Amino acid sequence: MKVLEDRIRQDGMILSNTVLKVDSFLNHQVDTELALAIGKELASIYADQPITKVLTIEASGIQFAMATGIALGVPFVYAKKKKAVTQSDKVYTAPVHSFTRGETYQVSVDQRYLGPNDRVLIVDDFLATGAALVGLVDIVRESGAQLVGVGCVIEKSFQEGRGLLEDKGVRVHSLARIASMKPGEVHFVHEENVVNEPQKETV
Ligand code: 5GP
Repeated sequence: MKVLEDRIRQDGMILSNTVLKVDSFLNHQVDTELALAIGKELASIYADQPITKVLTIEASGIQFAMATGIALGVPFVYAKKKKAVTQSDKVYTAPVHSFTRGETYQVSVDQRYLGPNDRVLIVDDFLATGAALVGLVDIVRESGAQLVGVGCVIEKSFQEGRGLLEDKGVRVHSLARIASMKPGEVHFVHEENVVNEPQKETV
């Protein structure tokens, strides 16, 4: 998605070879127009499949799951990281280790909001180690719902997440796939094998 790649180049801050900060437009302050465009794009990628629900994990996936749900005309559900007093005991759960926070959460989804009649698209902001998305895949499978696929905003393709999901037979689409990065420089997967045409000399 060109507009997203351009924005990552313009406003993303590459803190190290593995960590990209996008909190000025994606996951702290959110560019609402871009978030809605991301939702439309993810919905159009999966337009060949009937989908009844979008699933994400709090907090940074919520705006993209909502935008995708709006584009598809279906509800979205987000897995919770902490149990609330109002939450029922009938939940699907999975352990998820957070790459950015260094903690393991027991994430949960109320059993009333996911079940065998659902066809689910999972959406998240980042695909990195894949821990969060593998946890959501396990929750969908435990619920008996059918998993249509995963849609990610940014994939760090040099990390193992995509491979883990594909090994589980999951269809994965990401709107910006980063092949490599370092402070001040980012390379996307589709740019990797482009052979630069030699410049013609002009007289
Ligand atoms: P995972 O490692 O499970 O694929 O990533 C889980 C979560 O960690 C993502 O949903 C995202 O919120 C966060 N995350 C992973 N890598 C990055 C990164 O490079 N930058 C930011 N801002 N968040 C990240």
